[in-house]
Amino acid sequence: MRLVKRIFTTGLAVLLLAACGKSEDHEGNASGKDNTLKVVTSFTIIEDLAREIGGDDVEIHNLVPTGTDPHEYEPLPEDIKKATDADILFYNGLNLEGGKKGWFFKMVDSVGQKEENIYSLTERVEPMYISTEDGKEEEINPHAFIDPAVGIKMAEDMRDAFMEKDPERKESYKERANKYINRLKEIDKEYADKINDIPEEKRILVTSERAFQYMTDHYGLKEGYIWAVDTEENGSPKQIKSLVSFIKEHNVPVLFIESNVDPRPMETVSKETGIPFSKKPIYSDEIGKPGDEVDTYVKYLNYNINLIHDELSK
Ligand SMILES: [Zn+2]
Repeated sequence: MRLVKRIFTTGLAVLLLAACGKSEDHEGNASGKDNTLKVVTSFTIIEDLAREIGGDDVEIHNLVPTGTDPHEYEPLPEDIKKATDADILFYNGLNLEGGKKGWFFKMVDSVGQKEENIYSLTERVEPMYISTEDGKEEEINPHAFIDPAVGIKMAEDMRDAFMEKDPERKESYKERANKYINRLKEIDKEYADKINDIPEEKRILVTSERAFQYMTDHYGLKEGYIWAVDTEENGSPKQIKSLVSFIKEHNVPVLFIESNVDPRPMETVSKETGIPFSKKPIYSDEIGKPGDEVDTYVKYLNYNINLIHDELSK
C-alpha cells in the first residue's frame, strides 16, 4: 500500500532504492534520507564505530544505551521496530549480548531478520576465558574491545560489512574506515609506549569486573579483580577476600573503579587494604552520553590509557 503511494510522491526515491537492490519498505520523505542504510548496533561502542565508518551514508539505531548493562537487556518496542526494518545489524559477539540464547538473538529471531544482515565484529578475535566464581564453568570474556588492537579488527570488519551490503558507496566507507583505523593504530602504539613507561613492579591493574583481560594480556599488565563477569554475583565476601589477598601478595599502587559499576565492593577493598582509589573512574562496558568527557571510542581508549599511565607511574 505504502509503495503505491510512494510511486506518486517520491518516485525518485523508489528508483534509488531499486538501484540499491533493496526490497524493504522504507519511509519516504522529502529530504532524500530514505536512501541511507538502516543500521542497528547492540551497544554504545559499536554505535560509535558505525557513526565513524558509516558517516552520512547510514542511519543508526543503538540498542543498549549508556548506563545500561549490555550483558542483559530487555529490548524496547522501538528497538524491535528498528531491528525489523534494519538493512544491517552489528553486535559484539563473544557472548557480550548473552550468546545465541541471549537477548540480542532472541530479538533478531523474533522479528525474522535474515542471517546475512547480521554481523558479529569479533569473528577474528581469539576468545579469552574466565572461570566463574564456583570454578565450575569456563566462560568467554566478552570485553575484547577494551584492547585497541581488537578495535582495529572490529573497524575493519565493519568496513567490509558496509562495503558488502552497500556496494554503491563502497569507496566512502573505505575512505572513512581507513582514516579511522589509522588513528586506532596510533593509539595501539601509544598503549604499548605508555605501559612500557610504567615502572615494571607497578604494572598491575585492579578493577571490579575482570573486563580488562584482553588489554592487560596484550600490553603486559597484571590484573586483579573482584568478580569475573557482571552477570554473576558482584562483590560477595568471598570475592572481596580473594582480591584482598591478591593485593597483599602484589605491590598494588591504586584501585580503579569502572564508570558503570557499584563502587561499594571496591570501597570495602580499599578500607581493608589501605590502597587508594584512582582519581577518576575507568571505562569498560560503555562510552558516555554525547557531550560527556568520554563520548567516543577514540576518547575512551585515550582516556583509559592516560588514566592508567598517570595513576600507576606515580
Ligand atoms: Zn562487562
